[in-house]
Amino acid sequence: MGENASDGDADGGNTDCADGSAGTNAAADDLNVFITAATVEGRSGGPLAGRTVAVKDNISTAGVRTTCGSAMLAEYVPPYDATVVERLKDAGATIIGKTNMDEFGMGGTTETSRFGPTRNPVDPKRVPGGSSGGSAAAVAAGEADLALGSDTGGSVRNPAAFCGVVGIKPTYGLVSRYGLVAYANSLEQIGPLAPTVEEAAALLDVVAGADERDATTRKAGDGPGGETESGYASAADGDVAGTTVGVLTDLTAGADERVVSVFEDAIADLEAEGAEVREVSLDSIEHAVAAYYVIAMSEASSNLARFDGVRYGTPGGFEGDWNDAFARSREAGFGPEVKRRILLGTYALSAGYHEKYYEKAQDARAWIERDFEAAFEDVDVLASPTMPVLPPKLGESLDDPLQLYLVDANTVPVNLADLPAISVPVGEADGLPVGLQLVGPAFGEHRIVRTASAVEG
Ligand code: GLN
Repeated sequence: MGENASDGDADGGNTDCADGSAGTNAAADDLNVFITAATVEGRSGGPLAGRTVAVKDNISTAGVRTTCGSAMLAEYVPPYDATVVERLKDAGATIIGKTNMDEFGMGGTTETSRFGPTRNPVDPKRVPGGSSGGSAAAVAAGEADLALGSDTGGSVRNPAAFCGVVGIKPTYGLVSRYGLVAYANSLEQIGPLAPTVEEAAALLDVVAGADERDATTRKAGDGPGGETESGYASAADGDVAGTTVGVLTDLTAGADERVVSVFEDAIADLEAEGAEVREVSLDSIEHAVAAYYVIAMSEASSNLARFDGVRYGTPGGFEGDWNDAFARSREAGFGPEVKRRILLGTYALSAGYHEKYYEKAQDARAWIERDFEAAFEDVDVLASPTMPVLPPKLGESLDDPLQLYLVDANTVPVNLADLPAISVPVGEADGLPVGLQLVGPAFGEHRIVRTASAVEG
C-alpha cells in the first residue's frame, strides 16, 4: 500500500500471501502499484523462467487475496487459480503481486480503486490510465518484467498508452476467462503488458489457447490465414512490406492535436517501411461509446449480483430480513462508480426499457461488427491513436463520469466487435507517451504484432 491510499482504504495489509513472503518495494509503494505483494514461484524451467509477472487483481490466484480493487472483496482469498495463472506457473514465471485497478475494472484512470490511485511512473502527478493501471505502471517502472491486465473496453490498451508500454487485447475467445472476475463478460479478455512488442507477444503465446473450463474459448486455426494460437513472438519481425494499413479517420478527428501529430509520424514511418496506407471511415463507430456503456453496465448489473455478503463479499449482518442484509453489504462494499453502473444497467435491462436501450445497443454492436468485417476486406490492419488524449493529472477527470466515458471512444469499438488490438508506444508529446493502436481481423494477432514491431519506438 502506498501513502496515498484514499480514505476509502480497504486494505487489510499485505497479509494473504501464499507463502507468507509478503513484502513491498519502495518504488512500487510510492506509485501504489500493488494491492497485495506476494511471491508465487512457477515450476523450474519453461519459456518464462526467471521472468517476473504482475497480475491484475481481478484474476484469481489460489491462496492470494483477489480484491478487484473493491472493499467488497478486501478479504477474499480464492481457492483456485485462473487458467492464465496456471499457465504462467507452468511456463516458469514468478508472480510478484496483484496490481491495483479501477474497482471491478470500471474506469480508465485507476482512481476508482478502493485502495487509492496508482501514479504514472512517467509523471507521478498523472494517472497511469486504467483500469489495469497497476499492471502497466509495474512494467513501466521496471517493478515487473511483464504483467497481465484485462480489457473490457480498453483497460489493457489505455494504461499501456499512458505509461509508454505495449499492451494487447486478444480476440474474444483466444484467452481463457476462467478465474477472471466478470465485469462485462461478452466484451472482456485478459491481455499481456510488456516493455516490447516481442515480449508482450511471448506472454500471449503462454496464456492463449482453448480451455475446457471456458466454453467461449476457440480452437486453433481460426486466424484469417488459418493461423494457430501460437507463434506470436516470432511474428514480431518488423516486416510490413506489402501490408495495407487503414487509418480510422473517425478516431483521429476528435483527438488532441499533439497526439495526432505523433500518430501521423508513426503512420509515415510505416509507409516508409513499405506499408500501403489508406483512409477508412466507419459509419457505425460514432455509436460505439453509447452502445458499449449500455451493454457493459447491463452485464455488470447482472454479474455483480453475486456480491451480496452471502455468496461473495462482506456480510451485511443479521438485522432485518435478507433484503436489508444484502443492501447493507452492497452499500458498504461498492464504491460510487460501481453503484452508478449497477443502477444504470438494471434500468437498461428492466421491462419496458429493454427494447429501448439494451436491444438498440445490441443492434449497434452488430452494425459495428459488420463495418469492421467489411473494412478488413480492403486492409490488413486498422490504425488509430490508442487514446485521444494525453494522460490527465490525478483528480482531473473523475468528477465528470461522462468525460471519463468519452475517452474510451477509440478502444471500445474493438471490444464490441470481438477483435484483437495492440497499443504500442510510438513517441512522446510534451514528455508524455503516445500509443498507436493497431486493430486486426478476428484471430489476426500475428499481423498486428508484426506491424507494431515495425514501428515501436
Ligand atoms: N473504461 C472502460 C470502462 O470503464 C473500460 C474498462 C475496462 O476495459 N475494464 O468500462
